[in-house]
Amino acid sequence: MSYMIGLKCRECGRLYPKEVINVCEYCFGSIEVDYDYDAIRRALTRQAIAARPPSLWRYRELLPIDGEPTVGHASGFTPFFRAQRLAEALGVEELYLKDDSVSHPTLSFKDRVVSVALTRAKELGFDTVACASTGNLANAVSAHAAKAGFHCFVFIPADLETGKVIASQVYRPTVVAIEGTYDDVNRLCAELSAKYPWAFVNVNIRPYYAEGSKTYGFEVAEQLGWRAPAHIVIPAASGSLITKIAKAFKEFQLLGLIPQAHTKLYAAQAEGCSPIATAIQARSDIVKPVKPKTIAKSLAIGNPADGYYSTKAVLESGGWAEAVTDEEIVQGIQLLGETEGVFTETAGGVTLAVAKKLIGQGVIPRDESLVLCITGNGLKTLEPLVGRLEAPMRIKPTLASFEANCADAVRSATKR
Ligand SMILES: *Cc1c(COP(=O)(O)O)cnc(C)c1O
Ligand SMILES: [Zn+2]
Repeated sequence: MSYMIGLKCRECGRLYPKEVINVCEYCFGSIEVDYDYDAIRRALTRQAIAARPPSLWRYRELLPIDGEPTVGHASGFTPFFRAQRLAEALGVEELYLKDDSVSHPTLSFKDRVVSVALTRAKELGFDTVACASTGNLANAVSAHAAKAGFHCFVFIPADLETGKVIASQVYRPTVVAIEGTYDDVNRLCAELSAKYPWAFVNVNIRPYYAEGSKTYGFEVAEQLGWRAPAHIVIPAASGSLITKIAKAFKEFQLLGLIPQAHTKLYAAQAEGCSPIATAIQARSDIVKPVKPKTIAKSLAIGNPADGYYSTKAVLESGGWAEAVTDEEIVQGIQLLGETEGVFTETAGGVTLAVAKKLIGQGVIPRDESLVLCITGNGLKTLEPLVGRLEAPMRIKPTLASFEANCADAVRSATKR
């Protein structure tokens, strides 16, 4: 049973069949999936959702597929929990983490979009999948393509972290490293998608792919006890996750699954690549492209595809944005580790550092519910931490050597 009616232009409203279309032929507007919400309201209750297996497919009526899901049965429904020690460090009362750093199988929220995109790619008859990626998407496309039996090409900037490159190679796709930025990679993929009959998940089948990000927002609302938080801090690369978390809360309200919410959205970026945050701070929806230079490579998109819609979503919600330095990103990674036992990648460092900044500025209040979006795993981005953390104590295997070298640490442990 399909609840997907077709595709629709976000600007002029023109309707299209549910095929491979990613821009409006008439106005060049972006294309969105259109659903039969009345039918979904009848099928999708809290009880129905709660009785299903813990994966992103528990919300399948709100996802753009015609048949049964075929990819990513074990993806999604990641941990969501109260972060008491981090809350104390930041001086806020009600703080939660949504932790996609342990997403199955590739340790980032990109498992969500790819599960949806490859299920749809199969329905559309593709046998080869591809993507333009800052690293995590390439990992997810490679892994899910391997399991689902697709041929696979992934295109990445040549300067990615070693962990991100190996975490694609291991699944044996064709990895193409491009001498240029992500924006160069993306431009080439747009050209290739016109020539090769492949599903480029975030190019020619982007309208289907992007819907997968809604499941991050659905899970936040369900796991919070069927309500949306007052505030949520979201890392931004293309800006798609921001727009889809906003859409997720709106759809749940429309269906009566959660009460009316007024969640304020906050965009988190690195200073070295902050086109979305810069536009929001200018209260503008005109996103000026930049040339990225930051350790947060997963967020290094200088010309974001959903820049316009994400700035609009943030400003309409009454939220805001901030950008942080590379130094603050490393401190953010460490603060999350030492307070909550979660090792996030640079994007998570950006989210935490931006939250800290916005709380300090009084923009995010200290006494309302706040969710931080942790979207990726730190083991994939070790480079920025090498030589930056407290070094191990190196000693001889004797009691005397331990006591001679570790006296300070022992003293402070005893004091506590
Ligand atoms: C891709 C990515 C994002 C941002 O995604 P967009 O939807 O493109 O804004 C955030 N965090 C991580 C770890 C990512 O890989
Ligand atoms: Zn149009």
